[in-house]
Amino acid sequence: MTANLWADGAVMLGKLNMDEFAMGSSNETSYYGPVKSPWRKAGSNMALVPGGSSGGSASAVAARICAGATATDTGGSIRQPAAFTGTVGIKPTYGRCSRWGIVAFASSLDQAGPIARDVRDAAILLKSMASVDVKDSTSVDVPVPDYEAAVGRSVKGLRIGIPKEYRLEGLNAEIDGLWQQGIDWLKDAGAEIVEISLPHTKYALPAYYIVAPAEASSNLARYDGVRYGLRVPGSDIVDMYENSRAAGFGAEVKRRILIGTYVLSAGYYDAYYLRAQKVRTLIKRDFETCFEAGVDAILTPATPSAAFGIGEKAGADPVEMYLNDVFTVTVNMAGLPGIAVPAGLSGEGLPLGLQLIGRPFDEATLFALGGAIEKAAGRFAAEKWW
Ligand code: GLN
Repeated sequence: MTANLWADGAVMLGKLNMDEFAMGSSNETSYYGPVKSPWRKAGSNMALVPGGSSGGSASAVAARICAGATATDTGGSIRQPAAFTGTVGIKPTYGRCSRWGIVAFASSLDQAGPIARDVRDAAILLKSMASVDVKDSTSVDVPVPDYEAAVGRSVKGLRIGIPKEYRLEGLNAEIDGLWQQGIDWLKDAGAEIVEISLPHTKYALPAYYIVAPAEASSNLARYDGVRYGLRVPGSDIVDMYENSRAAGFGAEVKRRILIGTYVLSAGYYDAYYLRAQKVRTLIKRDFETCFEAGVDAILTPATPSAAFGIGEKAGADPVEMYLNDVFTVTVNMAGLPGIAVPAGLSGEGLPLGLQLIGRPFDEATLFALGGAIEKAAGRFAAEKWW
């Protein structure tokens, strides 16, 4: 993917911060500490999270340090930070971009994509990044259309599904208002709005937090303290392995490994992992049913809230943080493309994003619809304080 960018003449400036092993929604689990969002609430100096895990990428783009950035998305790590920072982030279809060179988190969910200042830049970047690659057997050999040409294309007659199950109980009124605004914009642009049902949505987050840790526990087994980085001595070889892993992984990563190992263990495998896999199939089928019924794309909020303060949600209950992914994980579970586009500001002056979910390998329609939302919503930039 980076090789494609290089071949197309991109200039790489450096690496950006992220949550440790891409596990997180705020950048706060990063080994290096959290990136601060370039955004501030109106009249406040409080440092806000940029979202995660690709919070460094989103912040750098929002702060105009770079024209665009690469990122990965296993459960929302491109779209949620994009929504928190007023940038555009697209998680392409599973298999659209090569993941060669990326440290695997949950191999059946991980996908790479760009974070950019606007829809057109995201389209240009994805056109370069997307390709089949012999070094990643999950990458798919399907033609890469001219995504840039799709930006500005008419959305007249497209059928946009509004999933009723995403109207969560207690949904933040601002987010609900933004969603309605997005519906109106697409309607004004000539799209047809249809209510749809994705009945298994409520199981997506619990199922994701079984499947993703299960795969992570397997992928991270290679970080044994012998071949990679840190090595902490012990009384014997097993002790040395255990000491190295205990000292080298951060708390969130250890939590995922423990959960993953537990749900894969004999006696619990059927009750947790196998059941989560079955739920995943049902989630995927929900989407397929809608697309088969003629829905071209689905419009949802990108996140349940605007960005929060550093330290605000990094407390004792990890589920608080996991809830950030409530609108995004379904897309990874189903392998579909999803784009987050800035759509407005909260009452406190923070960016809010909408998400569009498309058919497999139909990123072009997402760029057309994202372009329509961007045109109606306008552009948003953080006020410079740094
Ligand atoms: N926030 C989610 C998690 O912690 C998703 C992370 C990601 O997409 N890499 O698992």
